[in-house]
Amino acid sequence: MFRRKTENRVSGIDIAAGIRRLISRDSSETRAFYDSLEDLLIESDFGAAAAVQLVEELRERRSEMKENWGSERCIKELKAILRPSLVQARVEPPSEGLGVYLVLGVNGVGKTTTIAKMAHRFITEGKGPVTLAAADTFRAAAVEQLALHARRTGARLVKQDAGSDPGAVVHDALSSALSRGDRVVIADTAGRMHNRGDLVNQLAKIDRIAAGKIGEHGVYRKILVIDATTGQNGLRQAEIFHEVVGVDAVVISKFDSSARGGLAAAIGRSLGLPFAYLGRGEGMDDLDPFSPDEYLDHLLAEAR
Ligand code: GDP
Ligand code: MG
Repeated sequence: MFRRKTENRVSGIDIAAGIRRLISRDSSETRAFYDSLEDLLIESDFGAAAAVQLVEELRERRSEMKENWGSERCIKELKAILRPSLVQARVEPPSEGLGVYLVLGVNGVGKTTTIAKMAHRFITEGKGPVTLAAADTFRAAAVEQLALHARRTGARLVKQDAGSDPGAVVHDALSSALSRGDRVVIADTAGRMHNRGDLVNQLAKIDRIAAGKIGEHGVYRKILVIDATTGQNGLRQAEIFHEVVGVDAVVISKFDSSARGGLAAAIGRSLGLPFAYLGRGEGMDDLDPFSPDEYLDHLLAEAR
């Protein structure tokens, strides 16, 4: 059986429409259908390995059942297969003590914007006071950007001069937040990735300082921001950060700009990481707590 790759391209995110079209052409028993579905999933950022596995699981489910599958049944089964990889991480400052969130990710993914949105959310929900730690000390502009967001959201800012030690900024921010009785500290970090050794050393040091300082005084979570538009590179970033410092939860940013949605499923499946939020724009309210079912409905809309 040959693969008709180009014919099967769907424009945009609509995997469900793709499945409907494929099934109207090849029945769900045929090799051609599964090959085309695999292509469709790869084009939607699931990644080759996950796409092959997903299609294999779907094929197994199909072979266990005698009755023919229409497209809606196929979409339902695919959702059921994906569901366990999509786990929500609730980001909730503790009712007592300090919630400390270290925000990680490569340059430009949306860390600083996500921090601003989180601060805005905590403050408007009455979960403040919030302190922002400007531990991306690599560029003066990064500190300025965070300072602007602190003013806009009503958060307090702890910063030092550009070029100073990010670990020291985090240490300062935690000390002052603990002594003032703040509820939340969100720390920005630099995302340089061209030197892996550098990244490892810098993050490991910040991590050690934060973990040591917070100790029994609250909860400490490392939150990785992944840009939805980066495709499989996003999976690679998640692998590296998780290996280097251990990631507690992932935020998928720029979900409004991505035509494809398989990346979260690929990250969830291969790393088992839960998801905190989806970023859907540049505004302060454009941050939604991650909902596995809504995500799946968006990814694979059933016909109504
Ligand atoms: P950082 O380098 O990781 O701190 O990234 P920034 O927070 O500075 O964001 C980089 C760019 O992405 C900025 O232009 C942001 O406005 C934009 N951005 C961040 N989050 C989103 C999002 O959810 N949707 C869209 N459309 N743009 C975003
Ligand atoms: Mg930044």
